[in-house]
Amino acid sequence: MNGPTSDEDRLVTPKRAEEDAAELALRPQTLDDFIGQKQLRENLKIYVAAAKSRKEALDHVLFHGPPGLGKTTLAQIVAREMGAGFRATSGPVIQKAGDLAAQLTNLQPHDVLFIDEIHRLNPAVEEILYPAMEDFQLDLMIGEGPAARSVRIELPPFTLVGATTRSGLMTRPLRERFGIPLRMIFYEPAELETIVHRAARVLKMQMAKDGGAEIAKRSRGTPRVANRLLRRVRDFAAVGGHAVVDAGVADEALSRLEVDGRGLDAMDRLYLACIAENYGGGPVGVETLAAALSEQRDVIEDVIEPYLMQLGLLMRTPRGRLLSEGGYRHLGVAMPREQKQQLDLLAAGDREDEA
Ligand code: ADP
Repeated sequence: MNGPTSDEDRLVTPKRAEEDAAELALRPQTLDDFIGQKQLRENLKIYVAAAKSRKEALDHVLFHGPPGLGKTTLAQIVAREMGAGFRATSGPVIQKAGDLAAQLTNLQPHDVLFIDEIHRLNPAVEEILYPAMEDFQLDLMIGEGPAARSVRIELPPFTLVGATTRSGLMTRPLRERFGIPLRMIFYEPAELETIVHRAARVLKMQMAKDGGAEIAKRSRGTPRVANRLLRRVRDFAAVGGHAVVDAGVADEALSRLEVDGRGLDAMDRLYLACIAENYGGGPVGVETLAAALSEQRDVIEDVIEPYLMQLGLLMRTPRGRLLSEGGYRHLGVAMPREQKQQLDLLAAGDREDEA
């Protein structure tokens, strides 16, 4: 079987890959530059203006949602809009309480400390974060054994911006300490189209209107994927001697890269086919699927499934994953009759729940 062997190798993975270093030049710099997430952006604008007028640090912000939607970008924008400094780290990097203490004590008033993958903080580190977030105080133990003593350090008022793909994995006390929780959603094709055209300008590419639309609709609702597909199409166009990227050039390039018309790649299709062929369309548990596909469970839950659900190809139920009629259609097979009956029953059950 060809196709990617792990999520990192996938062209359409929304997770950051090495080649995405070029992202820096593509990051929007202000809230007004930032495309999409309209409601979230408007709310954020109000919170920033209010904090600035009170000359206070912005309340702590938590961004949650799938990877590649702009959480890091927004955190940087928040710092810039507040006229404050920006420091970034991530949950798995902060191993000891002392590592976090060092970060916190280096902050200037109103600075933004960004912690990516905050659901992966170790519990001992999380403990010292509570008083820091609530009272801008750090309680540290110095020394060991009978000589150990606790010291309290005052911190400047700062803003913690956390990002997570899995807010469900965060502890409740941590989640509740964020005054401004914001959910990021997948982008609309029209928004992605604007993002693609903007990036094409930065990359000095000639992009026809329909070329941008073609890339946008295959980008899984995710700006990071859009930017990456754009770069691949650019390479393809350069080699093929196409001065202008139109829909035809984009389609040829992306089809060759096995990204289909709705942005699904070989891994997505394998996932759908696995449920259809090996488990009769489901329901099947995520652990079973992870084992069958030799893929990590969190990759399946964070990366593969959200977009398939967004497209309505897949349903997550308490009993496991179920392929929808659209899922079968995408594979080009008809849904078995007994499976359709099962789905109808489920839908009727939902209606009863609502009644
Ligand atoms: P996350 O932290 O959610 O994984 P990032 O903030 O790193 O995502 O964004 C990934 C890439 O997508 C960056 O290159 C960024 O420039 C681009 N991007 C994200 N959101 C937007 C947007 N609204 N407009 C333009 N580019 C965006």
